[in-house]
Amino acid sequence: MEIRLLADKCTICGACEAACPYDAVAMGADGPELSEECTVCGACVEACPTEAIYIAGEKASPQPEPRDAAGDVWVFAEQREGQLLDVVLELLGEGRRLASELGVSLACLLLGDSVDHLPQELIEFGADLVYVGSAPELKHYRDDLYAQVMEHAVRQHRPAILLIGGTANGRSLAPRVAARLETGLTADCTGFALDEDGNLLQTRPAFGGNLMATIRCPHHRPQMATVRPKVFPKPARQPGREGQVIALELPELVPWQRILEVVEEADTGPNLAEADIVVAGGRGLGSPENFRLVEELASVLGAAVGASRSVVDAGWVSYPHQVGQTGRTVAPKIYIACGISGAIQHIVGMQSSDVIVAINSDPDAPIFSIATYGIVGKAEEVIPALIREIKGSSSQ
Ligand SMILES: Cc1cc2nc3c(=O)[nH]c(=O)nc-3n(C[C@H](O)[C@H](O)[C@H](O)COP(=O)(O)OP(=O)(O)OC[C@H]3O[C@@H](n4cnc5c(N)ncnc54)[C@H](O)[C@@H]3O)c2cc1C
Repeated sequence: MEIRLLADKCTICGACEAACPYDAVAMGADGPELSEECTVCGACVEACPTEAIYIAGEKASPQPEPRDAAGDVWVFAEQREGQLLDVVLELLGEGRRLASELGVSLACLLLGDSVDHLPQELIEFGADLVYVGSAPELKHYRDDLYAQVMEHAVRQHRPAILLIGGTANGRSLAPRVAARLETGLTADCTGFALDEDGNLLQTRPAFGGNLMATIRCPHHRPQMATVRPKVFPKPARQPGREGQVIALELPELVPWQRILEVVEEADTGPNLAEADIVVAGGRGLGSPENFRLVEELASVLGAAVGASRSVVDAGWVSYPHQVGQTGRTVAPKIYIACGISGAIQHIVGMQSSDVIVAINSDPDAPIFSIATYGIVGKAEEVIPALIREIKGSSSQ
């Protein structure tokens, strides 16, 4: 790692010299000069008002130096069993907008085995290029090989921005690749913009969702971000849209994980992240037996089952059902919260739902402040009444 200067940006203001805690900076006629005392602590980088100073990796990273090349925008095209995840299409919509604003191409990185049917779908949803890495070893997602291939592809093709779905796999892959590339990663972004230099402004909730932070990664490439499903809308498909499909040159695949067994997830109804209706239960239900009422209501509505962390921690329902800051983010058309207080950590995971129905015995419960409709009452009485009503109306 070393400090480098963009001479054309330096105004020789002396801020770096004043900020250096090691007295390692002396102002010369052409800008700052560093002595051997420099520890590359980055204080001068922070202090520089014109962003003329940056830290470069001594491993001679083959990524573009900041601002030296207009790399493309990339989306990781995560697929399962040969089907693209919806979050990929959502990212293509946002990636298309960023690529157009930057005047670069939008590319996808597609890894798998026998996935030749997917590039055209990616192109019709907005990709200009699709890099396909195909090998039997890549059939199922695995951290070790996917990270190796993604790192290799980035070093070869040098994108400026790399967007990855905030799925279980994406959350595992993104930090591994960011660490290998020595670049920054912002998780769970909810909005993107570009600054005047074309840097990606990555917005995400911070401090438990109480404020929004906007994060930049001006000195390293690619700028990496994950986005949870349902944060961005899916763009319209453009049938017949044309693009380029490029076979990726794969590195030597060196497995360091051994897959002992692949266990299919039990079919527990509609996928929580993609369901149109979610019925979620919380501690107010009082017992695991009463939580079955939530599952029954979900079943008659064709809805997915959600839960607060309290009941997941209590073992009433498994973690994949948890909604909130440390669970899933959902944005269904209807979210029915039963016996859930409305803690901020829960709300950040469901507040984008179109209609929120809250059932709570406490009229002052915080959940009512974001609810479209509120029912004050005991969930164990209200839910059976709703089930009877829905069953009655559907049998008429
Ligand atoms: C770092 C961190 C991350 C977290 N992540 C998450 C997360 O991802 N998701 C999450 O949900 N929480 C999360 N939490 C926990 C969160 O702060 C709350 O503790 C949790 O959401 C509360 O769950 P609850 O609403 O089910 O229970 P409670 O807060 O105990 O609320 C129960 C509610 O039920 C009502 N009630 C009682 N009896 C009845 C009845 N008979 N009928 C109807 N209503 C009744 C009560 O009035 C009350 O409003 C997190 C906390 C931290 C610190």
